[in-house]
Amino acid sequence: MKTFPMFLRMDGRRVVICGGGEEAARKARLVLKTSAEIVVLADRLDPELAALVASGRARQAAENGAETFANTALTFIATGCAARDRRLAGMARAAGAVVNVIDRPDLCDAFTPSIVDRDPVVVAIGTEGAAPVLGRAIKTEVEAMLSPRLGGFAALAGRLRDAVAERIPRAQRRGFWEWAFTGEAFRAHLDGRERAAAEMLKAAIAEGRAPAARGHIALVGAGPGARDLLTLRAVQRMQQADVIFYDRLVDPEVLELARRDADRVDVGKEVGACAWPQDRIDRLIVAEALRGRRVVRLKSGDPSVFGRASEEIAAAEAAGIEVEVVPGITAASAAAARLRRPLTERGETDSFVLTTGTCRPGDAAPDLGALARPGTAIAVYMGVARAAEIEAELRAAGMPAACPVDIVASVSTAREGHASATLGTMSETIRRAGLTHPAILFIRYPKSLAAEEARAVA
Ligand code: SAH
Repeated sequence: MKTFPMFLRMDGRRVVICGGGEEAARKARLVLKTSAEIVVLADRLDPELAALVASGRARQAAENGAETFANTALTFIATGCAARDRRLAGMARAAGAVVNVIDRPDLCDAFTPSIVDRDPVVVAIGTEGAAPVLGRAIKTEVEAMLSPRLGGFAALAGRLRDAVAERIPRAQRRGFWEWAFTGEAFRAHLDGRERAAAEMLKAAIAEGRAPAARGHIALVGAGPGARDLLTLRAVQRMQQADVIFYDRLVDPEVLELARRDADRVDVGKEVGACAWPQDRIDRLIVAEALRGRRVVRLKSGDPSVFGRASEEIAAAEAAGIEVEVVPGITAASAAAARLRRPLTERGETDSFVLTTGTCRPGDAAPDLGALARPGTAIAVYMGVARAAEIEAELRAAGMPAACPVDIVASVSTAREGHASATLGTMSETIRRAGLTHPAILFIRYPKSLAAEEARAVA
């Protein structure tokens, strides 16, 4: 490390920005977040700086000998004149200020990091100038990870520190804070229930200890495979989970997002081959939650699409356990994105149907023939192995052989495959392209095709 990160005290101190242009304004924008007094040393100000001075938040000043950098914690220098920059840097340094000269690393005592601001929680990212663009990319990732409400909660905890020190015995204090920053109050605050969160914290302080953990079950959509197709909420739940039950279709890449010490259980559900019967899964997730653990039931795609979510929700509710559903990107949406072809197209397909090619043994298969209507787009899940029957059934119901079809397998994973066909060649195309489970059959009956067929008949 050629530089060492520290946080500078700003309260009651001054930041002097030398220069009145765009660069100076950019630094002023950063300093504005602090409690420092801002002094702009320049004759002419760009409109943003002028507005800042007019608002009273910053003061414009002229050079004034030794006074110029009195009580200055930090100075940014960008006058546009190299000689003046150098002279001001020397003066500021002599007055004890930390110096940053824009675009002159050789004249800098310190460099500005990329900042993620959840005041009072602040994350600073530096690359020692080696890769500023990487620094900003990391900032973007951290921004996504940290709730905008995090700072509010940290500030609340800060206000309660004395009360905690007074009421919670020293031996239990660490456990208390762990609960405070991961438990129910924390989650309530992040969900926007700030008052409830404060009340929970205060009740626990009055009680003298953190409450016993309450179990919770989240049915979380893992999306089609790629790890950046999860929602932020899904990632958050995986980070909070004590145990994760996942289906075979969930990509290993996605499991990497789980908290490192969470237990992971492969319940190995696949179409037609249930390693674990559903009622066993229901019992297990409930039993874990009843032990006070946070359970994530991780399902491929969206939990609400062919995910047997209702059974798990019912089991949780029957046991009085709080249950939550976190939506995910369903395979059909991911397939549409992959194809760059929308699921609905104005004037051509204005109804979109999700259906399945495989049902529970003993259940009647869905009546696909009823869907064979002009203007309908159909995404068939769990259908690739039954493509020939599906094709025959739709054809028998009058759907033209020329209807366009796309077959998209393992979308958004390394094994992704795709083929275009028509309804008449669908099963043959799948066979020839070697496409296998999991795949979406995306079958469309455009209105224009129906009109053409009608003309041909007439
Ligand atoms: N809940 C899931 C669907 C589960 S049923 C969702 O919303 O996507 C399993 C079926 O989903 C598979 O047979 C296949 O049709 C589809 N599927 C799941 N992941 C897929 C993927 N990555 N690519 C294509 N189809 C997929």
